[in-house]
Amino acid sequence: MRKEGQNMRKVKREVTIGNLTIGGHNPVAVQTMLNVRADDVAGNVAQAVRVAEAGCQIVRVSVPTLEDVRLIEAIKNAVDIPLVADIHFNHRIALACVDAGVDKIRLNPGNIGGEDHVKEVAAACKAKNIPIRIGVNAGSLEKEVLAKYGAPVPEALVESAMYHVSLLEKYDFDNIVISIKSSNVPRMMEAYRLLSERCDYPLHVGVTEAGTYRMGLIKSGMGIGGLLMEGIGDTLRVSLTDEPEKEVQAGFDILRAAGHAVGGPEIISCPTCGRTNIPVAKIADEVEQRLKGYKKPIKVAVMGCVVNGPGEAREADIGIAGGKDEALLFIRGEKIRILRGDIVGQLVDEIYKL
Ligand code: SF4
Repeated sequence: MRKEGQNMRKVKREVTIGNLTIGGHNPVAVQTMLNVRADDVAGNVAQAVRVAEAGCQIVRVSVPTLEDVRLIEAIKNAVDIPLVADIHFNHRIALACVDAGVDKIRLNPGNIGGEDHVKEVAAACKAKNIPIRIGVNAGSLEKEVLAKYGAPVPEALVESAMYHVSLLEKYDFDNIVISIKSSNVPRMMEAYRLLSERCDYPLHVGVTEAGTYRMGLIKSGMGIGGLLMEGIGDTLRVSLTDEPEKEVQAGFDILRAAGHAVGGPEIISCPTCGRTNIPVAKIADEVEQRLKGYKKPIKVAVMGCVVNGPGEAREADIGIAGGKDEALLFIRGEKIRILRGDIVGQLVDEIYKL
């Protein structure tokens, strides 16, 4: 049966990254990138553990120098989610990361010093079935492409991506994922649409340099969420100038909002108004906190009044609607009983009984 919100999924070829496969009909995978300095191995490992605990499904780390290749083994020993090495310009670092057991390389083959290097990296990755993500960013387009188009317009981003793809395909390498990011949401969305028409490589979607928490969330919600609703995107990264755990959380929230099946609770709470009887914001926050680690997909409603609450929260699995110093508990639209005293505690108990 067609899932609502996924009826137009553009089916791409499958690419396996360590123990995870993206593309095809696989769920869209949420990823993030560590932001601890590369020379701080212990700090990177600790952060990788935290993002894995937050549910992150693919984690990326910058490997700016050959010395930093030690991060690969250290992180691989600490977490069992696939690890991606982010590499610029230096094919030796890519080869060393492949030797060290990395699961995927993010690198643009046009920037690693010539075709001999591309050939070497492609052969090394092919031998170990390691995919390469080509990551085109509006801010770092090739000079010639920029000169041709005059600005990092969607066509320019696509041309750059396809140029990097052609370098790998020339050496018979097609284990490819592509991203084509811009901080400009309409431009980024159009670029992904064009790219999706041009090839069947799975797409890593994201808005780059999206900004601080608030604006980053809005831009990512629109850009990533908008593309997901059009069926585009096989893995996503929300870029925030903030902790990567927050990127992971935001990634799942965007997926959920776009109608994808995501485990864990979704809190539906009303905006409150003159009829509000209970502290909705406080209760919703507490419920969210108390359900951290709850894995089943469930919609929990916290509504301010009994007049409109249950009706407005019709799609919730369980919820409460506020009355005077009490709350009405409802489960799948049915009124169950009145809760008094520790309303949050009783609601959470009921959720665990479902
Ligand atoms: Fe107002 Fe009740 Fe609607 Fe909340 S559920 S916004 S309190 S009418």
